Amino acid sequence: PGEVLPEILPYAGPSTVIDVPSRLLMGPGPANSHPRVLAAQTLPLLGHMHPPFFKIMNEIQEGLQYVFQTSSKYTLLISGTGHAGMEATITNLVEPGDTIVVGNNGIWGSRVCDMAARYGANVVNLEKEAGKAFSFEELSQAVTQHKPAVLFLCQGESSSGVHQNLAGLGKLCKDNGTLLLVDTVCSLGGVPMFADNWGIDAIYSGSQKVLAAPPGGAPLFLSQRAVDKLKARKTKPGSYNLDLNLVGDYWGWFGSRSYHHTGMVSMWYAMREALALVGEEGLDAMWARHQREHEHLWAGLTEMGLEPFVENPDERLITVNTIKVPEGVDWAALVKNAMDTYSVEIAGGLGPTVGRVWRVGIMGYNAQPQNIELVLAAFRDGLRKQGRLP
Ligand code: PMP
Repeated sequence: PGEVLPEILPYAGPSTVIDVPSRLLMGPGPANSHPRVLAAQTLPLLGHMHPPFFKIMNEIQEGLQYVFQTSSKYTLLISGTGHAGMEATITNLVEPGDTIVVGNNGIWGSRVCDMAARYGANVVNLEKEAGKAFSFEELSQAVTQHKPAVLFLCQGESSSGVHQNLAGLGKLCKDNGTLLLVDTVCSLGGVPMFADNWGIDAIYSGSQKVLAAPPGGAPLFLSQRAVDKLKARKTKPGSYNLDLNLVGDYWGWFGSRSYHHTGMVSMWYAMREALALVGEEGLDAMWARHQREHEHLWAGLTEMGLEPFVENPDERLITVNTIKVPEGVDWAALVKNAMDTYSVEIAGGLGPTVGRVWRVGIMGYNAQPQNIELVLAAFRDGLRKQGRLP
């Protein structure tokens, strides 16, 4: 009152309504969302503490228990993308001075090293050439030597296209007082995951890949051992926003519910539907569909003379496929042609694989034969235009 306000800065607004081209997203993510998931996002908003919204949160947690294959009640969505899930697990499970052994065979391991160091961890960077998975022996040697608080591994390394086998690691970690933390951002729902049976302690994932929802909700799981560690901490987690004591309390982990932040109402409607779709199809059918389309893709690529970047067939990730760029081929021109001519996204490499590979995602709603045919057509056309195919 009485204050003389300055002149308002002008804003004319865009001159047209929002214009979004339709694209088939066959890169490493985001992948296209299922129409039923998108439709759920248009439903009316509820308050984030309204009982009907709590019912939806409960349904999400049941869906997450299924997709993680766990009976642990400690599942929730972090409000954020995969990185927020990554940061949540690290800030909560690693106390300053704790040792974390990081399986680092691509960009995600590098980022976990960076993040864990920011939270005061003693980081053991277990580096491995991109394109190769860790053997049980290598991991066993590192865990028995360092007896870390946490062992990090990426199940689906999307920068290199490597699938990390997790067999036997749960017992190894338990025997050494270590929590087993796994990144499943681009693998969850597309390849087997048995959190309880495999003895995994913490998992984070992403909404925008195999689960076929928009980006913004990071599925998270903790085992009882991980929650015990959280409860036994001597210091508070370094992030308030991602403190699982508080976020977990909003999701009803500890009996009651209290406000921590405003749940991402529309995003969680989407995840509720995305997980319902997983339940309707069944995990076994989903895994088989991804395997089938992976084989479909490679039958076509092999005919064109293209080769997988990951040498060991047992280590090839089926949800993000890495394809060697042949000597002398302009990978970026092929990517551009796919987008300009076919409206199909094919990606180049990331981190250690830039310029060395193309990446084709086969994820969720997009894992369908007609989409693979379009990707193959885009490769054929791109190679022809560079004189590599008749
Ligand atoms: N981990 C993996 C394996 C990923 O593929 C990605 C996303 N490409 C991330 C973590 C990070 O997720 P976001 O981009 O959703 O933060």
